[in-house]
Amino acid sequence: MNGLGAMFSQTDLAGVTPLYNRFYRQYGVTVGLLRIDLLHPQISGNKWFKLLSLLQRLKSGERPRILSFGGAWSNHLHALAYVGNHFGVETLGMVRGHPDQPLTGMLADAQRWGMRLIYLGRDEYRRRGEPDFLAQLAIEYPGWDILPEGGSNADAVHGCSTIWQSVQGTDWSEPDYFLCAMGTGGTLAGVIAGRPSGTQVVGVPVLELGDAGEQMVRDLLSQAQVPDPQGWCLDHSGAFGGYAKLSHELSALLVSFEGQSGVQLDPVYTLKLLATLNRRIVRGQVAPGSRVLLLHSGGLQGRRGLASRLETGASAFVGPLLV
Ligand SMILES: *Cc1c(COP(=O)(O)O)cnc(C)c1O
Repeated sequence: MNGLGAMFSQTDLAGVTPLYNRFYRQYGVTVGLLRIDLLHPQISGNKWFKLLSLLQRLKSGERPRILSFGGAWSNHLHALAYVGNHFGVETLGMVRGHPDQPLTGMLADAQRWGMRLIYLGRDEYRRRGEPDFLAQLAIEYPGWDILPEGGSNADAVHGCSTIWQSVQGTDWSEPDYFLCAMGTGGTLAGVIAGRPSGTQVVGVPVLELGDAGEQMVRDLLSQAQVPDPQGWCLDHSGAFGGYAKLSHELSALLVSFEGQSGVQLDPVYTLKLLATLNRRIVRGQVAPGSRVLLLHSGGLQGRRGLASRLETGASAFVGPLLV
């Protein structure tokens, strides 16, 4: 295993993979994929930037105990458990679900890395952000650092604003559009915070958030004290029916894209991001001549849970694909 120490100067490993195909050529758009998925095999993609301030504290010798929240396939808990194991700190994951459910591959890894798992029922899990609930947790777990679901807090926003460093000094430093998938919004808020003035940031929620989506991003930006952020919007058409919902068409797009580009996508986030870009191009929301950068935020370990659904879905798809 490569040391985490080296990772602090590693943003230059995250290059841009250009995506060439007839569809983009026909519409006159230049598309690149920013490969932060390549930074680290376990602290995948955006999770590395979200945990950056924690990594820095751990590296400087602090040993906090960390509690956080996530679903049974949470990339965030997975990354956090890995970090805890690496630095020898205790981690605790509050998982939405029931202890009798079979352990997912993701949670099995987390447990192997020493994360203690506590299951919360649906109603209890829903309270994860409420002040009363958090106050109670602080009493039950004195001295623990409590990270919100997905790790999205002000630190995550600051960490993710440095994603832009990976394109500094390249011809991708100020694309016309930067597209980023959104779950809990910390990554997107960071990308907005670090946005060069000539770039429009488009966030793509992968679950049905409605207007609450914009509010989540605004709240995170204000927690991180980013003054008057401009130049961003959400495209709500990218949820495709809800979290981890996967149509036959999306599955077919993934198989076709991976065959053409040799780059793997995760079906929950980056696949929907790609599909949303393609739709925006067809809708005329991306002017000819534009340069578009898509964030490959990683999450490939989450594919394990969906591999068979992807195969069946892709082979059931009938019809033309855009790309
Ligand atoms: C967690 C995750 C996201 C969502 O990030 P948020 O900061 O929660 O919006 C996007 N892509 C991948 C691959 C992820 O694992």
